[in-house]
Amino acid sequence: MLYRYVGPESVRLRALTEPAGTPIRTAADVADFARRERTFASDGASFIVDEAGTLHLAPRRSEHVGCASGRDVLAAGELSMALVRGRWTVTECSNQSTGYCPEPSCFEALAAALDALAIARPAAWTQALVIRRCDSCAQIQVIKEEVFECAVCGHPLAARR
Ligand SMILES: [Zn+2]
Repeated sequence: MLYRYVGPESVRLRALTEPAGTPIRTAADVADFARRERTFASDGASFIVDEAGTLHLAPRRSEHVGCASGRDVLAAGELSMALVRGRWTVTECSNQSTGYCPEPSCFEALAAALDALAIARPAAWTQALVIRRCDSCAQIQVIKEEVFECAVCGHPLAARR
């Protein structure tokens, strides 16, 4: 499924003035990205998977909507990679994106993108989150114990996206 950006408009507008994410079309593109982004090996990166199934990376803590050039995404989150026997390998990944609040099931899109690049990965998110933005007060929250209610204003939150 495609996820639309649901975060604040001010954040979207600011993010769109920053460079878009780097499309990863071959495993060698990861090495280039790692050379350019000195914090990648220590901090990991923000990622999105675009509508065509292509992975894009951006420095950690970049806005996903900027990484995606404002477009809808198949998946979004954070990932860490390490060199394992000379090959960049995904060691940690999560669907943590307050801009898109993608469901944990978007792992499928990330897995397909990585498999197409022959990049080794975990079998599932190392951290899976259910995140919602409150329609009433705009607060972003991580859902715990399946309580779909805004902790700030009490407004009900959608159980499904
Ligand atoms: Zn609320």
